[in-house]
Amino acid sequence: MTEQTLAASPLPLADIISANVRILRRRSRWTAEQAGQQWETVTGRAISAQSWYAMERPGARAWTADDIEAAAYLFDVEPVALVVPLDTCAHCNDQPPAGFICASCNVEGPRKA
Ligand SMILES: [Zn+2]
Repeated sequence: MTEQTLAASPLPLADIISANVRILRRRSRWTAEQAGQQWETVTGRAISAQSWYAMERPGARAWTADDIEAAAYLFDVEPVALVVPLDTCAHCNDQPPAGFICASCNVEGPRKA
C-alpha cells in the first residue's frame, strides 16, 4: 500500500475496530458495565464502564492483537470481522425509536423515561 492510498483511507484501522465494538455491544444489548464484566470472563482482566466507553471512542485505544482476539471471542465473530466497517442496519440505521428493539439487528432504542 502506498502512502497515498493510506492517506486516502477514510478511517484508521483502530477507529474501525472501536466503532465495530460499539455496534456489536449494542447488538448484544449490553451496557458498558456488562460488557466490561464479560471482558473479564474472557481475559481475566476487568474493564470499568468508563474504560469500556473509552475503548469505543475513536482514537482512544491502541488495539493489540490480543484485544482484537478477545473482542472477537466476546462477540462471537471472526477477528477479521472487526477490522472492516460493519454495515449499518438497513432496518433501523442503528437507531431504533425509543422503547423499541430492532428485530433485524437487535439494538435497543433509548429507554423511555
Ligand atoms: Zn436494526
